[in-house]
Amino acid sequence: MEIQSSPIPLQPINDAVTKKHDVSLFVLRLDLNHPHISGNKLFKLKYNLEEARKQGKNTLLTFGGAYSNHIAATAAAGKEAGFKTIGIIRGEEHEELNPTLKFATDCGMQLFYVSREDYRNKNIQSLSNYQIIKSSNYYLIPEGGSNELGVLGCKEITKNIPIDFDIVCCPCGTGATLAGIVLSLKDNQNTLGFQILKGENYIKSEVDNWLNKFNFITQNKYNINESYHFGGYAKVNPELKEFIKQFEKENNIPLDYVYTGKMMFGIYELIKKGNFEKGETIIAIHTGGLQGNKGFEG
Ligand SMILES: *Cc1c(COP(=O)(O)O)cnc(C)c1O
Repeated sequence: MEIQSSPIPLQPINDAVTKKHDVSLFVLRLDLNHPHISGNKLFKLKYNLEEARKQGKNTLLTFGGAYSNHIAATAAAGKEAGFKTIGIIRGEEHEELNPTLKFATDCGMQLFYVSREDYRNKNIQSLSNYQIIKSSNYYLIPEGGSNELGVLGCKEITKNIPIDFDIVCCPCGTGATLAGIVLSLKDNQNTLGFQILKGENYIKSEVDNWLNKFNFITQNKYNINESYHFGGYAKVNPELKEFIKQFEKENNIPLDYVYTGKMMFGIYELIKKGNFEKGETIIAIHTGGLQGNKGFEG
C-alpha cells in the first residue's frame, strides 16, 4: 500500500453502563490510523489508488460536500501518493474557505463548485467546460469513496481486531463500509449499522446492493438501526453535543458530530435498553471524521 498507516488501537470501555448490563465494549480507533487520511476513508481509498496507478492516471477526481471527510482524505492521499487531485464541491463558492476546503487546497487539490442540482445528478458533462477537467487524465472516485474497490478495502477493517467478538457497530452514510465489514465476518459474528441520514430502509437497500455485487447471500449478517440520526445528516442537538463532550472526557476518545457521535450515542441507548445480550463483546468502529468537527464548534 502506498500510504503508511499507523497501528490501530482497540480501546476497552469499562464504565457503569457496560458493567451494569454485563457487556464488553471496545472502540477500534481507525481515527488514529493516519493524521490526515483518517478512519474508514483510508481503507476506501487503498485499492482505488492502486487502480488509478494501474490505469496510468495521474489525477484523482472526486465529489463531496464542503465539510466532506472524503474530500479532505483524497486531497491528502493524492499529495502523499503523488497524484494531482480535483474536488467537485457541492454548493456555492465562499470567499473564505472553511477549514476542510482550506486543508484540501493546501494539499494541492483544485476545487470546482457545482449547483446542488448538477451535483445531485453527478453531472460531469456540466463540468466539461472547465478546460482543466477536460484535459486531465483522471481516475474518478465516487462520493465518499464508495465503490466496489472501496468496499474491498473496508473488508480489511476487522483484521485489526485482535480479539474474539460478537458484534461490530459502524455508522453508515452510503453503507459501503458496513458492507465491507459484513464480507469479512465469521459465521457467529454480526453487525449493526447506525444510519445517520433520515429515510426509511435507505441504508438497508444500499448495503444489500453492495453485497449483491459480491454475490454475497446476506442471511441476516447485519441489522440497521434508524433511530439515532437526530433529524438527518449533520443535524445535532444539545443532548448529542453533551454526550460527545462527556464521552471524550471519560474515555479520552474524541467523536465527530456527523457519524461516530451518533453511533456511540445509539450504542449506549441500546445497551441501557438491554438490546445486547449479556456477556456479548461489542466492537464500535471509530470511523474517524474528526476534521469535520470544526464546523460544529466555536
Ligand atoms: C464517510 C464516513 C462514514 C460513512 O461511510 P459509508 O461507507 O459511506 O457508510 C462513516 N463515518 C465517518 C467518520 C465517515 O467519514
